[in-house]
Amino acid sequence: MLKLSRLPTGEPEIFTSIQGEGVTAGVPSTFVRLSLCSLHCGFCDTPYTWDWARYNPKAEIIRLEVPEVLHRVAAGGTRNVVVTGGEPLLQQRDLVPLAAGLKSEGKRIEVETSGTILPDGALSASVDQWNVSPKLASSGNESGAREVPAALTWFAAQSQAYFKYVVTAPDDLAEVQGQVARYGVPAERVLLMPEGTTTAVLAERSAWLVERCQALGYRFTTRLHVLLWGDKRGR
Ligand code: SF4
Repeated sequence: MLKLSRLPTGEPEIFTSIQGEGVTAGVPSTFVRLSLCSLHCGFCDTPYTWDWARYNPKAEIIRLEVPEVLHRVAAGGTRNVVVTGGEPLLQQRDLVPLAAGLKSEGKRIEVETSGTILPDGALSASVDQWNVSPKLASSGNESGAREVPAALTWFAAQSQAYFKYVVTAPDDLAEVQGQVARYGVPAERVLLMPEGTTTAVLAERSAWLVERCQALGYRFTTRLHVLLWGDKRGR
């Protein structure tokens, strides 16, 4: 049984759109948004998946069996499936049968994670792409919670794992470079993304972030869904 985020309509947050961020930005995708997160980022744009001081978990969480999730994803009609959250790896035991079912239907699977939990071998065998987004000090999380060396070492060694850093200010970059060096992440698998939920903020931060990407040999990614639809849930 998986715990998914519940939309205000009462339906589980499974929706079809385009991947908005990262190396597969622009690819038509069906998203499965899971509830629960082990981190508490100040800039989190999905607090309804974990912030039980502000949201009621009884209203925000919906439990679904794996076959029901598979049925709804199939209705999305895309080959690419993005499992997101929250922190999906908190439910990785239940993700194993979901990922296996998706693979048997010919789907390509991306899993988004903060990179703080070591994936189970049975799950990683089915995952085509890890979108790892390690959180920096600017996220407001304690260093021991946001940086788990065993997990980051494992992800750094996976050719299908991309490290996408959310950048709020130029000061964040020294921390990114330190982490990339510490775990030996190849530069071509590092992406910098401006933090922001409005086009104005993304434009201002993108201007200097693109230049830093060029200087450091990292990829740049914007947030297409914010540019296209604003900070709208279910898009
Ligand atoms: S890791 Fe992601 S889902 Fe969790 S609090 Fe941070 S931004 Fe939100």
